[in-house]
Amino acid sequence: MQTSDRVAAVVVAGGTGTRAAGADGLPKQYRVIADRTVLAHTLAAFLDHPRIGRVVTVVHPDHRALYEEAVAGFAGDPRLAAPVVGGATRQASVRAGLAALAVDAPDLVLVHDAARPFLSAAILDRTLATLATADAALVAVRVVDTLKKADAGDRVVGTVPRDGMWAAQTPQGFRYAALAAAHGHAAAEGRDDFTDDAAVAEWAGLTVHLVEGERGNLKITTAEDLVEAERRMTIDRFARLADIRVGTGYDVHAFEPGDHVTLCGVTIPYEKKLSGHSDADVPLHALTDAILGALGDGDIGAHFPPSEVRWRGCDSAVFVRDAIRRLHERGGMLAHVDISLVAEAPKIGPHREVMRSRVAEICEIPVDRVGIKATTNEKLGFVGRREGIAALAAATIRLPLD
Ligand code: MG
Repeated sequence: MQTSDRVAAVVVAGGTGTRAAGADGLPKQYRVIADRTVLAHTLAAFLDHPRIGRVVTVVHPDHRALYEEAVAGFAGDPRLAAPVVGGATRQASVRAGLAALAVDAPDLVLVHDAARPFLSAAILDRTLATLATADAALVAVRVVDTLKKADAGDRVVGTVPRDGMWAAQTPQGFRYAALAAAHGHAAAEGRDDFTDDAAVAEWAGLTVHLVEGERGNLKITTAEDLVEAERRMTIDRFARLADIRVGTGYDVHAFEPGDHVTLCGVTIPYEKKLSGHSDADVPLHALTDAILGALGDGDIGAHFPPSEVRWRGCDSAVFVRDAIRRLHERGGMLAHVDISLVAEAPKIGPHREVMRSRVAEICEIPVDRVGIKATTNEKLGFVGRREGIAALAAATIRLPLD
């Protein structure tokens, strides 16, 4: 491989994956683990690698909408090519992916299963290094378990020597022209039964070289695999986001004549309203400041000056979401929020669970990461005299260490 070699990837996502399908019937590549689909994790592994110039995904004709939703986070990345519809077999699907790359063809192509989201940069590096001198590179791991052959039932009929045995993974890498020719040849000969691309290459007479794979390069096949993948992804993500910070916020708004208040995005009928430029959602303003405070990124007044007409009557969820956008831009996540409301009236208790759900929805975090509490001010001070409502908030965020 020359470093000037242009590299493309074909990600095979055409399966219907019923073995890992959940109650929702979604195929495994479109199941969400650790906040994004399996397919999005897989595509990110390629798009995060500096040598990958183009990625084309082969999809099932019924999954176009699922695909578009899965890749929404990559919008605007010119390296992600339009998806192509696969064929009846895996081999036909790869052929369709290769055909989509034919115009302005790459020098090298890596074929990968969408259901292997743990693809590491190290595997990609080793595969590309092997292609410096080889036409075909197969990522595989040495078989360490003793292999048994059984009859149609559960009766063992023999032990298979495992010497020299390797279990094939993906990606499998090739000189593009060589693999395209091998696939074309196989199709012309009516062969459509190869289960991986290395087999097509072997059949066509190419020499396939092994590349050390990783046991962690798991192919998600069963529901149990999905659970394990979710666990690993979550642990990896939390370990990466080790810079933990807490921010606090405080806000108060005065009452004026009216018939309802808006607290945590929930409308509550009351004999007064809260005065303010936006919808005067006190707890959401405090929460916005808590997130901005944890980021060390100013406050709500700096980002949304009350002097600007466009925030008049505005849903305060806009402010919270903007703070979270700043957090996400820094690669972080919102780990927890906690809000305290201080008011003599209206009564908050009956609305608390609706508020928690609404805040969880606005923040896009699980509801068990949202705390909402309320207290009166024991009739003391401006809150005690029912002149307004105050709110305090804390937000815990996690940022990458680097
Ligand atoms: Mg305010």
